[in-house]
This record gives sequence, C-alpha cells and structure tokens, in this order.
Amino acid sequence: LRLFLCYSTPCLSAGADRVKAVLDEEIAARKSHSDVSLEVVATGCMGPCSRGPLLRITQADGSEQIFEKVTPESAHAILSAQFSKNAPVTEELSSHLPFFTQQTRIVLDNNGRIDPEKIEHSLARSAYSALAHALQEMTPEQVCGEITHSGLRGRGGGGYPTGVKWDLVRKAPGERKYVVANGDEGDPGAYMDRTIMESDPHRVLEGLAIAGYAVGAEQGYIYVRGEYPLAAARLAKAIKAAEKSGLLGSRILDSGFNFRIDLRVGAGAFVCGEETALMTSIMGRRGQPVPRPPYPAHSGLWGQPTLINNVETFANIAPIIRNGADWFAGFGTERSKGTKVFALCGEVVNSGLIEVEMGISLRNIVFDIGGGLPDGGNFKAAQTGGPSGGCIPSTHLDTPVDYESLKELGSIMGSGGLIVMNETSCMPDVAKFFMEFCLDESCGKCVPCRVGTVEMHRLLTRITDGSAVAEDLQTLEELCGLVQETSLCGLGMTAPNPVLNTLLYFRDEYLAHVEEKR
Ligand code: SF4
Repeated sequence: LRLFLCYSTPCLSAGADRVKAVLDEEIAARKSHSDVSLEVVATGCMGPCSRGPLLRITQADGSEQIFEKVTPESAHAILSAQFSKNAPVTEELSSHLPFFTQQTRIVLDNNGRIDPEKIEHSLARSAYSALAHALQEMTPEQVCGEITHSGLRGRGGGGYPTGVKWDLVRKAPGERKYVVANGDEGDPGAYMDRTIMESDPHRVLEGLAIAGYAVGAEQGYIYVRGEYPLAAARLAKAIKAAEKSGLLGSRILDSGFNFRIDLRVGAGAFVCGEETALMTSIMGRRGQPVPRPPYPAHSGLWGQPTLINNVETFANIAPIIRNGADWFAGFGTERSKGTKVFALCGEVVNSGLIEVEMGISLRNIVFDIGGGLPDGGNFKAAQTGGPSGGCIPSTHLDTPVDYESLKELGSIMGSGGLIVMNETSCMPDVAKFFMEFCLDESCGKCVPCRVGTVEMHRLLTRITDGSAVAEDLQTLEELCGLVQETSLCGLGMTAPNPVLNTLLYFRDEYLAHVEEKR
C-alpha cells in the first residue's frame, strides 16, 4: 500500500499540508502497534488541480484509487477504509475519467508518482540514464542529430526546431558556451513550467546537462520566475542532490564532461521571459530586451554562443534520448511532433494541468478531458497563447491543436495557457484585459510599445464603456498594425494579437458597443 499526496502549489493552497499532517500522525500511531509499512509520498501535480487536495493510493497489485478534495477529516476516513475494507468512502475520483485516459504523458510522466525532493525517487524512474547514454554512446553531433530527427520544436511558443537551434550553438565559435532554461513563465492562466519544475526538477536538469554536452557548454542557468518560490526551492535542492551524486559538476559519470547549473530567480518582470531581456537579467543588468541580430546562438551571455530553451522543451529531451527520435516522432502530426502540456482553466469542469498529443482537437480537450462547461454553459471561445495569442471561436472547435493550425486561425500555440470562455464573456473586454496586462508589463524601452499599448488600452476602454465612436475602431486597427511592425521585442509585436483576433471573429460585439452609444 502506498499513499501519494499532491504537494504542488494548487493542492498546497487547498490544504494539502494539513492533510499530510493528519496522515503522518495516523500512520505513526498505526506503526506503533503493528508492523504496518506505510508512508505518505509528497508528490508533484497530479493534474486535476480544481479537485485538490488529491490523494492517490496504490495497492500491491498495482490497482489505484484517487481521492479528490481531501480534508483532514476525510483523510482519516480514507485511511481507515484501507484497513477495514467495508468503510464507505465517497470522495473517490474514477481513474477511468477521460481526464486521465485521453492524455498522453511524456513530460508529465513522473508527476504525482515521485517525491520531487528525493533524487532516489527520480533515479528509480530512469532519471539521468539518458545523460549516461549520451555521454557514453553518443557524440555531441549525434545528440543534436537525434533531437533534430525527433521533430521536437520549442515549447515556449515560437516552435523553432530544437535540434536545429542546438546545432547552430554547437557549430558557433566561442571561448565558452552557455545553456539556459527559461522558466520565467508569465502568461495569465499558465503554470505548465512551474508545475514541471516543482514536480520533476531532475528531468529539467538532465535535459540541460544533455544540451550542455551537445553544444559544448560547461555552464547552465535556470531562470525561474520570482513568483515561483516552491519551484526555485525544489530546483535548488535537486541541483545539490545531483552534484552530490556525481550527476552534475566535474567529470560527470566519470566522463570528461563538466557541467554546472546555477539558479537565477527573476524579480517579477514579464518581459524577462523574452530571451534577450532574460540574458541581460542573468548578467546582472536591468532586464530589458536588446535588438536582434545578433542572435543568442552566436552572441548571447557575455557575448558567447548561448542556447536558450523553455523548461518544457528541456523536459522532453531525456525521453527522446532514452527511447529514440523515431519513438518521439511517432506522436503528433506531420509538422508538430510529440505532446504539449496545457494549463486548462476558465469555464471548464476539470480545470488543471494536462498533456495531450499534438493534433488532438480543441473539442476533445474542452469537452472530453475538460468535461465541458459547468452548469450547462455554452462554449464561446478558447484563448490560447496568453497576451500574444488569440481566441478561437466555437466554429473552429474541431481544429487540430498544432503549431500550424492555431496560427492559421490567427492564434498561437504559445507556451500552453488555454482559457475556456462561455457565452457571457464579452470579447472586447477580454481584449482589454490582455492589453492592460501588456501595458503594465511593457518595459518602456521603445516608443511604439510604451505609447501604443496605452493608446490601444484607452481606445478599448472607450469601446467597452460605450463612449467610442465608429472612427475609434479604425484607429484601433491602424494602431495595432503599427505597434506590431515597429516594436522592438515580442511583447510589443504581439500585444495587438488578442485585439486583432477578437476583431476577426467577434467584430459584431465591438460594433454593438459602438452602436449602443448612438
Ligand atoms: Fe520594452 Fe515593449 Fe519595446 Fe519590448 S516592445 S522593448 S517590452 S517597450
């Protein structure tokens, strides 16, 4: 009998620590008068976050039960039921729910099954075996080739082929090279990277180390968003444990490869998720974007070739090396291979963290995995890609979720935030919300973004409060184009996207606001 209690941020905020205290106490009491061998494993995220705290109990024969919304009181009843089989327990969540059965887990494979603070748990599930294989059996060129062949694309939103990027850095001349994991996730509603770092930190470290070997870097950084203290703490602990085990540091696994990873914690600026701003922040300067070229692959940290990938991208590396590029390429679509992790939230019954095969339809995600909208609500749109993305209307629910299809609809895959909206959502309001976010987060370095976001927000406010005139819509659209074309970095270039996208699909709502005033 084993007990796994979700100990990630959503379940902790719902009281998982109080549940653990009760379970620990009861187990200690049982142990004192019998030879019960039991312990509570505090794991990372199990997925259905809105139903937390979650407790999974596995029996010796492999069967499992998952309990939702566990309280200190129900924890007592659940545990008692394990020892007196007839005791009724009502909070069981079926593991046959489409929420579980329709996911494909590569990145989240260990979530909810290991204690992220115990390296031996990760090692028991093959952690660092891919690094050992790469160091002992593969040349750096072969590692890059394998990643290219797998078809993995950057999971931070851009979708650039990962292996091609690695090879650019490998071939770039430079005295020193660096690899960086971007964990500065900041899109509203998104928490994929936080969960990966909290739930399986060794997976990220292993991916970074393999990348370091592949491109010829001896130094790696993980840049973690300042608002993610649990992720930063678990990563710091994981780095120490890996160093102590000879899996990071000098002459890793008795090879000639040295690799050190340092943690950098951001200070709350969304723009630091932009790669050039992130690098200036790592170097100790104010986190502001700088023009490209030169690109980081040629001149990044301290002017040296630097590889930057998102946390989820690194989390895919070890499984690819362990199972082979062909195995990975067997998942997904022609041009979007593998899986994608989404933070499914908003008006949906099963909100939480999910991992699905690329190419799955939006309908499948919202209505099967997500269980549809609560209280019989009608689906209106799904927002993907955060402040750089767009809203996909119900007419496109059967669109396959992959890089190209979402782009064709005027949205983007983004890093994985997926917000479901019902018929009560006002789309100009939604656009205004994202514009306000960009306005707040604009670093102010270039005029189009600094002034443009303020002006676009002003126009959207006039539209939503009913004081706009028809010309305001035209001005808004012209301004969107101007800001897209002339901003210095991605934040400004993509800030108009939610406006343009909602104008494309929900123009009548904008017009209704303008006409209401007449
Ligand atoms: Fe700063 Fe915005 Fe210009 Fe980017 S586009 S550099 S965030 S002002």
